[in-house]
Amino acid sequence: MPDAYDDVEGGDQTEVIKAETVVDGVNLVEQEELSVVQLPTAKTAFEKLQSDRKTLPVYPYREELLRAINDHQILIIVGETGSGKTTQIPQYLHEAGYTSRGRKIGCTQPRRVAAMSIAARVSQEMGVKLGHEVGYSIRFEDYGMLLREFLGEPDLASYSVLMVDEAHERTLSTDILFGLVKDIARFRPDLKLLISSATLDAEKFSDYFDSAPIFKIPGRRFPVEIHYTKAPEADYLDAAIVTALQIHVTHPPGDGDILIFLTGQEEIEIAEETLKHKTRGLGSKIAELIICPIYANLPTELQGKIFEPTPEGARKVVLATNIAETSLTIDGIKYVIDPGFVKMKSYNPRTGMESLLVTPISKASANQRAGRSGRTGPGKCFRLYTAYNYYNDLDDNTVPEIQRTNMANVVLSLKSLGINDLLNFDFMDPPPSEALLKALELLYALSALNKQGELTKVGRRMAEFPLDPMLSKMIVASEKYQCSDEAISIAAMLSIGNSIFYRPKDKQVHADNARSNFHMGNVGDHLALLKVYNSWKDTNFSTQWCYENYIQVRSMKRARDIRGQLEGLLERVEIEKTSNPNDLDAIKKAITSGFFPHSAKLQKNGSYRTVKHPQTVQIHPSSGLAQVLIPRWVVYHELVLTSKEYMRQVTQIKPEWLVEIAPHYYQLKD
Ligand code: ADP
Ligand code: MG
Repeated sequence: MPDAYDDVEGGDQTEVIKAETVVDGVNLVEQEELSVVQLPTAKTAFEKLQSDRKTLPVYPYREELLRAINDHQILIIVGETGSGKTTQIPQYLHEAGYTSRGRKIGCTQPRRVAAMSIAARVSQEMGVKLGHEVGYSIRFEDYGMLLREFLGEPDLASYSVLMVDEAHERTLSTDILFGLVKDIARFRPDLKLLISSATLDAEKFSDYFDSAPIFKIPGRRFPVEIHYTKAPEADYLDAAIVTALQIHVTHPPGDGDILIFLTGQEEIEIAEETLKHKTRGLGSKIAELIICPIYANLPTELQGKIFEPTPEGARKVVLATNIAETSLTIDGIKYVIDPGFVKMKSYNPRTGMESLLVTPISKASANQRAGRSGRTGPGKCFRLYTAYNYYNDLDDNTVPEIQRTNMANVVLSLKSLGINDLLNFDFMDPPPSEALLKALELLYALSALNKQGELTKVGRRMAEFPLDPMLSKMIVASEKYQCSDEAISIAAMLSIGNSIFYRPKDKQVHADNARSNFHMGNVGDHLALLKVYNSWKDTNFSTQWCYENYIQVRSMKRARDIRGQLEGLLERVEIEKTSNPNDLDAIKKAITSGFFPHSAKLQKNGSYRTVKHPQTVQIHPSSGLAQVLIPRWVVYHELVLTSKEYMRQVTQIKPEWLVEIAPHYYQLKD
């Protein structure tokens, strides 16, 4: 498997320490940009970094920690966010010789942004170029990089230490890793396993890892004053902005910075614009307010801004997603504004529907957020909900992702690692058996598993693609229809999500016109996406062309990178790259081969009914399809629940294809 960092790694390094990272999203462009991260130029800056390292809470425990790691194979490490676990411990291990003889130290991160930022920081502290001694690798789906590495090296032989970081976040990848590394540790006594967590209830980790000892790094924590609202807020975004401005005008700027927790990019952009607008209105009456957004898709070059020290006479307001809850530490925060929401994945195993919903946070999460204000001095946290809400409505802990996700992807990966008995896999918290059965059912329908539940040749090929199994199946099936070239373009474009087109407020009509051009002669969003990609390619990937067509160039570049990776994987599974641009039915049949479980039929009242688990749905208004015609039969990429159940990315099909392609799944009735 070509790792992202292979491209930039020095060939003859003997000592390698790798901030190896798990997660969603590879972007080679981003990586190239990061690989030229500035080294401290003046010697004094480097010296300052070194002396700063010694002020971190973990530093006094360096020797004790190294001794504990030496004495125990598995160690649970607990310390407050910001104590230096992630950036320091891999360096201590490196200094203590764990990277000798070419061995690596792996550190997994559940978040892409954190992975890049931490790798950059560690290389800076070590005074080396990112991508040499320290690197990171990320992949484009939210599905563990290290998990993929197991496919090539099941015993992780090249690693001397593996640190599963941010274990408390309990992401899907982390939970799967737990099961795999616990097993490996049994037959590789020389492998050290560190499980690090920011929360104190580490007993659960210890119990799971056969009573592994817990190493606590005492944190520095100042008191935090908690304020609640008297009544629930109707509009938390607005309330958050008002609160931030109130803090800003009533406290001198040198007093401390503000951190606001929002649920996603869209909200952050609205908040940024509103804050800019309002502060402009106040002019020179108030001190300068520097607005720093941070979220997963923020371009790398802008990510560093949150770490820049706030200039004198100004105040920083950081608008962050949950990433700032524990993964990243921003110094100087005194005020935290917590609306109490997070965007979270949920999954209904009965309908097989996955949705991303804005949901109330847990008490544990609320307390982590509040704690971000008390790192450098006493802090204040403004909760935009009532004390009653906090005590009575919030759950104690966030439900681990494994219990609220579609397991199809995980099941396919585990099967390809030779783990067959999933119902008895050593999960820390098992997924609902209904979700496992649902996954097995889907993989069987896609012909990835046989009746005995064993991986088929198709399944083995599909497992190579770090994509949703339906997309992988579309690609594998495209061989038959001789359109693999088109299939990987479509898969890459779908992987980007919904950030390809944009509609500036003052030019909506232009944007919509530009967009409908891509639907001309097509009968589906998938083909429109393909047309966008191919048209961009025909202009030699022109940025100007993107501007003219109201298309986000950044998203397109990401699609191009993903496509490049998929192209490499085609070769790996020995599917020839063939193009069949004029046979739209062939392309649609390839799509149907992956997405036949997502078919829907038009009803008399104009809405659609999904075929397998009957449910009334609509075509999403953003789809170009409904403007061209009202198709009788469609397949869709995903269902999203907003005000209604919507199908997003929809393509017209012929019903007989369903029977032709998936006779085991559909029988012709009417
Ligand atoms: P932990 O993993 O225990 O939460 P970290 O090792 O991530 O702690 O961070 C330790 C300290 O290093 C932070 O308090 C912060 O001051 C500093 N730091 C970490 N990442 C960066 C960065 N990208 N830029 C500047 N400072 C950073
Ligand atoms: Mg950390």
